[in-house]
Amino acid sequence: MTGEIIVATGNAHKMQEIREILSDPGLGLVSMSEAGIDVEIIEDGSTFAENAIIKARAVAMASGRMALADDSGLVVDAMDGEPGIQSARFMGRDTSYDIKNRAIIDRVNEYCRRQASAEGSGAEDAAGAAAEEAAEEAAEEARPGSLADGTPGPLRSARFVCAVAAVWPDGRVECVEGVMEGRIGYEIAGENGFGYDPIFFLPEKGKTSAEISPEEKNALSHRGQAFRKMKELLDEEQ
Ligand code: IMP
Repeated sequence: MTGEIIVATGNAHKMQEIREILSDPGLGLVSMSEAGIDVEIIEDGSTFAENAIIKARAVAMASGRMALADDSGLVVDAMDGEPGIQSARFMGRDTSYDIKNRAIIDRVNEYCRRQASAEGSGAEDAAGAAAEEAAEEAAEEARPGSLADGTPGPLRSARFVCAVAAVWPDGRVECVEGVMEGRIGYEIAGENGFGYDPIFFLPEKGKTSAEISPEEKNALSHRGQAFRKMKELLDEEQ
């Protein structure tokens, strides 16, 4: 990967992560604003990949140069895949992430409680209410969907997905994807990262993606995986 590449994003946090992930002295990454490109992009695709291609294509056509774009978001199983490709717009673009994150925790808690009560009613009929079960239920009530150690369990599964597209001015397209699996936590925790990081609990770290360092996040993240794959693909073509 050499020469100047325009990254089709207006999100400063994402641009910073992309620069860190692709840190390569031979590579001149410039953001849309640095390249002086101002095009209106309507992200009306129905998948992360389609939206990444729409963004990269718009910038490649406007600039006459190769453009890279990512489209990413949080997919929460207990919310039928929401916010998904609507992650930036979920509850309104200008709503604070504090509010969005609390709303997601509430919805996932509610889902886990519904699941537990559906399961619990059958178990009670069959076995009766033992003291141990009552204690477990109390713990479950406080931390719905938790494992025995109190950490978020599989009912709280979620993933960050990132598609990265490269589009050339002649219309050629390449697209790759990265996924980071995690669970929706019980509270907002951590100051690093951005967006939904403070509620995205990584079981293998025992922390949210806002509590790990930027280097740790880039090594694991959906965006890290996808941009490294794209870099390999472009390097192979040199
Ligand atoms: P995009 O700019 O259309 O790709 O929107 C991506 C949105 O997904 C962001 O604005 C965040 O809400 C969310 N998102 C994507 N990646 C991350 C991440 O690494 N951490 C936290 N939130 C993310």
